[in-house]
Amino acid sequence: MIESSRTGINIWGNEGCELPGKGSCDACCNVKPFIIDYGYRDPGGNPFYKPAEKDCPFMRRRMGKGEGCGVYPLHPIPCQNYHCSQELPGIRLMLISYALEEGLVTQIEALEAVKRILM
Ligand code: SF4
Ligand code: SF4
Repeated sequence: MIESSRTGINIWGNEGCELPGKGSCDACCNVKPFIIDYGYRDPGGNPFYKPAEKDCPFMRRRMGKGEGCGVYPLHPIPCQNYHCSQELPGIRLMLISYALEEGLVTQIEALEAVKRILM
């Protein structure tokens, strides 16, 4: 999510949410659990909970509309506050694995990211 409010040096060694290939990462929008607290309610009237390792329904890739967050700049506060630069190594590896599986990065780019964690 290049346009995201998320800041810091990400798992790819870039600022914000930029991928090595200059596209927009959205790995945490699958890997991490988030409470979607902005206006969206589940059938029971509760804030929508996006579980870990499930694609968020607001991912533009899942909506067939490009990349990044489909509800930016109204994305939920937990999403705004999250950035992988603060993450533990195990979760970083999960993020990299997801991005590789989804074709967001090449094998070489994923390996470079893994090396950054291990070194
Ligand atoms: S994992 Fe999330 S916070 Fe990190 S670069 Fe990707 S989209 Fe941004
Ligand atoms: S609401 Fe947007 S930023 Fe939050 S998980 Fe979904 S796609 Fe990602």
